[in-house]
Amino acid sequence: MNHAGRQCRLKTVLEQNRLDALLVSHLPNIRYISGFTGSAGVLLATESAILLFTDGRYKEQARTEVVGARVVIGRKSALTAAGEWLNAHRKKLGIRVAGIEAQHLRVAERDQLRKVLRSNLRLREAPPLIERMRMVKDDEEIDNLRCAVRLGASLFDVALKMIRPGTKEIEVAAEMEYEARKAGGEGMSFETIVAAGPRSALPHGRASNAAIPAAGFVVCDFGIILAGYCSDMTRTVHVSKPNADAEKMYDAVREAQQAAIDRVRPGVSVGEVDHAARKVLTARGFGKYFTHSTGHGVGLEIHEPPRVARGQPDLLRSGMVITIEPGAYVSGGGGVRIEDMVVVTEGGCEVLTPTSKELVIL
Ligand code: ZN
Ligand code: ZN
Repeated sequence: MNHAGRQCRLKTVLEQNRLDALLVSHLPNIRYISGFTGSAGVLLATESAILLFTDGRYKEQARTEVVGARVVIGRKSALTAAGEWLNAHRKKLGIRVAGIEAQHLRVAERDQLRKVLRSNLRLREAPPLIERMRMVKDDEEIDNLRCAVRLGASLFDVALKMIRPGTKEIEVAAEMEYEARKAGGEGMSFETIVAAGPRSALPHGRASNAAIPAAGFVVCDFGIILAGYCSDMTRTVHVSKPNADAEKMYDAVREAQQAAIDRVRPGVSVGEVDHAARKVLTARGFGKYFTHSTGHGVGLEIHEPPRVARGQPDLLRSGMVITIEPGAYVSGGGGVRIEDMVVVTEGGCEVLTPTSKELVIL
């Protein structure tokens, strides 16, 4: 990973935002900048130095993983240690304004930091600066995502073998997760969704103890983490022969998903991509049943900027990786969602998810 390049860019970003320092507390951001994968630490970036504060549990790990940042192992909390370092070096480095990650730092942590810091050092709530850097993936990240997507997609075959009337949703999910771990997955990107029959109308129906009914849709939404990168995909299958209404709904979602994919290219706003899916579903009479946004960025975290949602102005850039996942959910009836991951390319996009979108009937 090109940590040196990221650290260099971060310094430019600080300058552009008139910040003398940035306290990075969000772990995926710390990982992105320094390579550290531990679960406790604070990264402090200034114009002249980058430091990682963590504790004795991570001594070895930090020394092995961290690139381009000085590792400081302390007994106090990492945040207090970073604050004290700022106090000690404030004058020499001319640090007057330090940014905090307003979306991640807890109120109690901010109060704790204020107590430590001398009054002539101002804390400012910084916008999601590193998240913005992370939106565009480099080649190595795209390779990692590609591998994660491939392994993630192989779990759909497991789902197809397991989904039968009478089998519990949770049994399907358990088998998928067991296979994921055996194949080298570090974990699931999120709690596996297997939602059958009327439960398929719940957009986030985590696998439950409910048995799969004799007929109806089953929404499977799942992903794995590989080398730190998340995959995310959804396929909806039908148990027993679908009636005409069910077929109509599936076709509408599939067409909407394709329309949104076709709209993806650099310079197009994510709002326009969302609109492309919504337009198809509205024309087919399912507009009001599409109750969430069309997609989201994905990378070190399962949900990252940009939000591919109604009216969002962010412009797509080559190297962004987003999901395209429209759905339709009829309460008491059933639901359909189809989700792929795509990478934005110079000429449009490449769909990373290799799995067919023909309706599978089990
Ligand atoms: Zn998903
Ligand atoms: Zn998703």
